[in-house]
Amino acid sequence: MNYCDLAPSYVRSIAPYQPGKPISELERELGITGIVKLASNENPLGASSAAIAAMQEAIKTIALYPDGNGFELKDALVKRYGVTHANVTLGNGSNDLLELSARAFLQHGDKVVYSAHAFSVYALATQAVGATGISVPATKGYGHDLPAMLKAAKTKKVKMVFIANPNNPTGTFLSADELLVFMRGLPPEILVVLDEAYNEYLPEDKRYDSVSWMKEFPNLIISRTFSKAYGLAGLRVGYALSHEQVTDMLNRVRQPFNVNSVAQAAAVAALRDVSFVKKTFELNQRGMTQITDGLFRLGLDYIPSYGNFVAFRIGNATAMYRRLLELGVIVRPIASYDMEDWLRVSIGLESENAKFLHALKHALGDVK
Ligand SMILES: *Cc1c(COP(=O)(O)O)cnc(C)c1O
Repeated sequence: MNYCDLAPSYVRSIAPYQPGKPISELERELGITGIVKLASNENPLGASSAAIAAMQEAIKTIALYPDGNGFELKDALVKRYGVTHANVTLGNGSNDLLELSARAFLQHGDKVVYSAHAFSVYALATQAVGATGISVPATKGYGHDLPAMLKAAKTKKVKMVFIANPNNPTGTFLSADELLVFMRGLPPEILVVLDEAYNEYLPEDKRYDSVSWMKEFPNLIISRTFSKAYGLAGLRVGYALSHEQVTDMLNRVRQPFNVNSVAQAAAVAALRDVSFVKKTFELNQRGMTQITDGLFRLGLDYIPSYGNFVAFRIGNATAMYRRLLELGVIVRPIASYDMEDWLRVSIGLESENAKFLHALKHALGDVK
């Protein structure tokens, strides 16, 4: 017998998430060192030293179970955002929150709207609970087509919409005005998961206060993460802010200890270290200019990005990805996002960005 057949068909049909290639794996394969990984939108500055100190302290009590309610981290978030504890759900990465949203509210037969080229976890979370995804074609510039998504959301059985702002892997951005028009047009019984994993990278003039929208829209679930600008991707910690009844349901389906104690302690310290996030933001701004200028000079098309990564168009993306690996640079193919001719590069340190551009220039000569 085939044990795969014991799983429901909607589980069998899930295409696994494709993570960026780990440095250690490429080292083993090629026997080279000095590899630059610009494949998973990680923080090139590492983590805040305050967060690292908090982790070292937390390790001392690692034999104990974590606080299952995450009181201190929730308290820090409550004070930052002016919400109550009853509005906060903690997650093992914000990925967890996306899945909890699906698990708490969706069942077989429900439909879920998201955009083409949107973060792939939306489709995974949808499929894993036997719901059906509706992928709405993107705009010309690869961004979410909110008016079309609104129309799709108003069809039968749609219960949830996922929106990424900025979106990964395209880096596209939706303004507060566009989002508000969408929210106001949507029936309140349809939940909206607004994934703001890259929120901290938005320039001043693009920032908006989605948390304040929760009063007007009880159907809004905002998800954020400590994996990106806070530099804690390896720890797995994120959070969702939502109406208390929605939060209640999210918390019923999570594991009792879904966020470990070291992660909770680090996140509290990271949240306080405002200057680290500012430094990260500024480095990213400079790096984005460095990389997009470089891409422009090489005559390559790219999608203007509001995250810490940029997608660029390149013929023969698979061969180019492999050639870059040989040259010690890991980027991310995004063919699984229906973007066969594109690669995505994360913004690194100045020297890493330079190494990437240098390797790319070389590779362009090698790969036809
Ligand atoms: C990276 C990312 C996340 C989640 O990452 P976690 O590490 O699970 O918090 C969520 N949404 C988008 C769009 C991302 O790119």
